Amino acid sequence: MSEPAPPEFRVCPVTGRTVIVAPARAARPHDDRGDAGPCPFCPGQEHETPPETYAIHDANGWRVRVVPNRYPAVRPDAPAFGYHELVVECPDHVERPTDLREDQLANVFRAYRDRLAHHFAHPRIEAVSIFKNVGVAAGASREHAHSQLVALPFVPPGFVARPGPCAVCPMPAGSDKLVARSANLAAVCPAAPRFANEVWIVPTAHEPRFEATDHDVELAQLVRRVLLAMDALLDRPAFNWMLVTAPRPVADFHWRLEIVPRRSAVAGFEWATGVFINDVPPDRAAARLRDKLPA
Ligand SMILES: [Zn+2]
Ligand SMILES: [Zn+2]
Repeated sequence: MSEPAPPEFRVCPVTGRTVIVAPARAARPHDDRGDAGPCPFCPGQEHETPPETYAIHDANGWRVRVVPNRYPAVRPDAPAFGYHELVVECPDHVERPTDLREDQLANVFRAYRDRLAHHFAHPRIEAVSIFKNVGVAAGASREHAHSQLVALPFVPPGFVARPGPCAVCPMPAGSDKLVARSANLAAVCPAAPRFANEVWIVPTAHEPRFEATDHDVELAQLVRRVLLAMDALLDRPAFNWMLVTAPRPVADFHWRLEIVPRRSAVAGFEWATGVFINDVPPDRAAARLRDKLPA
């Protein structure tokens, strides 16, 4: 049997959209298809993943492990150049970040920062997307808590700041859309959220690059509070989080962690137009989430 073709970028000549065609990904296993076997992310199964590129250890062993994705969307030796890694967030077989202790979640954000710095040191890498899918409705194929990192040789549209003064800087001051605040961070509902109850975590100061920050513990505390409020409001929804941080080179940027509960499918109108319909105004979402924050 011949190897599937390596991944490649294709730009649609009609729409200008970039697509990654990666036939080898068709073989990736899914817990929910029943082709699980022993979990490859659990301790003792390290041989089931490619050798780690990064890890945080303590006296008990690894706490966070980063490994190349065995079914990559981009590869350093392929026409679709780039790096696709998995961040295994904890040794325990749990699914939701709220099942992690705060110090463990802080380790995950430290790993994000270290891997961002590592990939941006590569001269061809222009943007790095780190994201997390929790629940089948959010695109997760594995249960064990993990995030993905895709380092790209171009800047995708979602990572381009709009021209003009920073539109993120004023967000924490809009008290009607504020969910919670901590010393250096705010959780806010954006003015035009695509999804009901979408929350962005933003630094209150204008910080372009996530990897240059030092708020791991504070971020873990705030993310955990917001996720617990979402769990209480929406009964443990499937969700994605997406870290959007400055590409290189960058004129200006303000990083954010977007947390998007996935209770409704993206439908034909959104696919056709790129325009999302959201039935919960952001000020109402913020008020509901504030009500559900843990004490
Ligand atoms: Zn596991
Ligand atoms: Zn700003």
